[in-house]
Amino acid sequence: MSAVVIIADKALTSCPGEGPREATAVFTIDGRIERVGDPADVLADPRAAGARRVDWSRRAMVAGTVNTHNHSFQSLLRGIGDDLPFLEWRDKALYRYSPQLGAEDMATAALFAFGEMLLHGVTTVCDFYYLNHQANDNASATIEAAKQLGIRIVLARCFYDWDGAPAAYRETIPQAVANFEALAARYQDRERFLTTVQPAPHSQHGATPQMIEAGAGCARDAGMPWHIHLAEEQYQVEQSLERFGLRPLHAIATLPVDMAQMIAVHGCWFDASERALLADRGGSLAYCPGSNMFLGDGVTDLVDLVARGVKVGLGTDGGCSNNRVSVFDEMRMAALLQKVHRTDGQAIDAETCFRLGTATAGEVLRLPIGRIAPGYRCDLVALDLDDPSLWPIQALEKNVVYSLSPRAVTDVVVDGQEVVVSRRLSHVSLDDIQARVIELTRTWRRA
Ligand SMILES: [Zn+2]
Repeated sequence: MSAVVIIADKALTSCPGEGPREATAVFTIDGRIERVGDPADVLADPRAAGARRVDWSRRAMVAGTVNTHNHSFQSLLRGIGDDLPFLEWRDKALYRYSPQLGAEDMATAALFAFGEMLLHGVTTVCDFYYLNHQANDNASATIEAAKQLGIRIVLARCFYDWDGAPAAYRETIPQAVANFEALAARYQDRERFLTTVQPAPHSQHGATPQMIEAGAGCARDAGMPWHIHLAEEQYQVEQSLERFGLRPLHAIATLPVDMAQMIAVHGCWFDASERALLADRGGSLAYCPGSNMFLGDGVTDLVDLVARGVKVGLGTDGGCSNNRVSVFDEMRMAALLQKVHRTDGQAIDAETCFRLGTATAGEVLRLPIGRIAPGYRCDLVALDLDDPSLWPIQALEKNVVYSLSPRAVTDVVVDGQEVVVSRRLSHVSLDDIQARVIELTRTWRRA
């Protein structure tokens, strides 16, 4: 049994109705938070006697951030196809380099993407995974890389059958179902939730209705949510109208799938009727404002979705369509984009955006994460109160969202384990990751 008490000068727990706290201690056993409170009270708890102590003085402890949408291999393509029209980027960067990547390369990509995320305070990442080569070797290598670093991972295994894409992405329906089930059987962790496998039919353009149905069926059987890209770009709405005579979400609603378990990704072009439908069916959204701006996709009506009660979690999307991998940055981007879109500085506030990157994102992924509260997994980030980007510290919650510098992230704990200490990864050397990235991308050139 591993018992730890972590004590910080301030805390942002992301619990409903709770603002910034002064000196706070978290007592955890085997990665589960048992008690949160005043340090003197927590240390007096008989169960905490003999627990290891971690001292985060001059630091604020905040709930670990949750990245609900990423494609880890895309970090390797960062800068390679930027500022190109979408089809040129796809053909000259994505389709050119990604199909060659094998398991060892995917491990390099994952170490790179997840290592950088940890340094930004991401404690859980959902990797939407479509480079499968009709097998699980790549996904397994990615999960193993996450384990090595100590980050919590949701592997959203893709269901993809559009024949316009490289063969490496495509599977038949029986292949996709069998591979999903094998990967889930091997890795599903229902005790500590360090690895979770969820199905992810790619999109309306990447998966046939039958493939979407198969993915949603696997979700139902596994008791998991399912992910799907929807209405990211305007042309996808037109395509859906042409193919199905319906807008994207209405077309999905005609399938025998459980939309309450659906995590739609993007939804930039959902109209009012689709937003109402998403709310009515209890579906969730993975929202990636940085990526939507980078690619010029459009603006999801986040304010309306939140008002309707839709659960929304923030995501960075891939490292070559953002190009950052920080959920703190997405909190800022979400707020700024909504404010300018509505020309209203009060369209959304920092507290809401902080929750979208922590507590609500955990709810979207259906995991006990994103809050500093008893019963939740102990995922924490320490922020340096001596860093000027957080001053004045009496406005901590606003400053974490609007002015925080990544430099202020000093320590990260995942499931009670210290995975970043004094701005350094604990279990993998960043120099080794750098050497692997240099070697792998040595001959890659901008399109
Ligand atoms: Zn995506």
